[in-house]
Amino acid sequence: MITLRADLHTHTVSSGHAYSTIKEMAEMAGGKGLELIAMTDHAPAMPGSCQILHFSNLRALPRQIGEVTVLRGVEINVLDRQGKLDMPGGLLERLEWRIASLHENILIPEEGCDYTELYLALAENPRIDMIGHPESPDYPFDVEAVVPVWAARGKVVELNEHHAFDISPRHLENAKRLMAACARCGAFVSVDSDAHTCWRVGDSARAAALLDEIGFPEEQVLNTSARRVMDFIHARRTL
Ligand SMILES: [Zn+2]
Ligand SMILES: [Zn+2]
Repeated sequence: MITLRADLHTHTVSSGHAYSTIKEMAEMAGGKGLELIAMTDHAPAMPGSCQILHFSNLRALPRQIGEVTVLRGVEINVLDRQGKLDMPGGLLERLEWRIASLHENILIPEEGCDYTELYLALAENPRIDMIGHPESPDYPFDVEAVVPVWAARGKVVELNEHHAFDISPRHLENAKRLMAACARCGAFVSVDSDAHTCWRVGDSARAAALLDEIGFPEEQVLNTSARRVMDFIHARRTL
């Protein structure tokens, strides 16, 4: 079984509908044997989440909390079908881990709509590191057309433990199809918890088992160590 040592998608109390502080998240992560977490609170368009100042002041946080390295990140909301984001580009450049996600209360899914063009637009945005929970059946797209472009542009594709396994069998079906395409195209994936409480941080057992089941190449899994994550980021830009 693949051993995962980093969780690149977590929320703190700052998101408004999550319940643990960054101290609680990091301490629990350390207790579970994780080396690194990315703190990725929801960007401002999510009702009840924090404002821009939260993100521009993230450098106030220590790099290490206990044994755990903390990356200063964000889960950005995609606002429209052209790929507009809810955070200024200059600020995104200063953040260390930037997930772009489609959320149904912000980009309301349209019946019969295809989201291929939108996901291709996200591939071209250099300020996005990872595509968050793209297995959602609410936003169908042409996997065979999009995943090779994500791979070519270095976008990490998320396998989200919560979204893939806790919502519906269609989410899981889509996640398997996506992971198979990532394996074929050489795309990096990250297996994340999307934890909204400290008790869920690092939860990834079902997702890791899925990767084993389909024989996913371990060298394409980004979050097997803190070193691997940091090298990946440093290869792309200076922090
Ligand atoms: Zn999300
Ligand atoms: Zn999230």
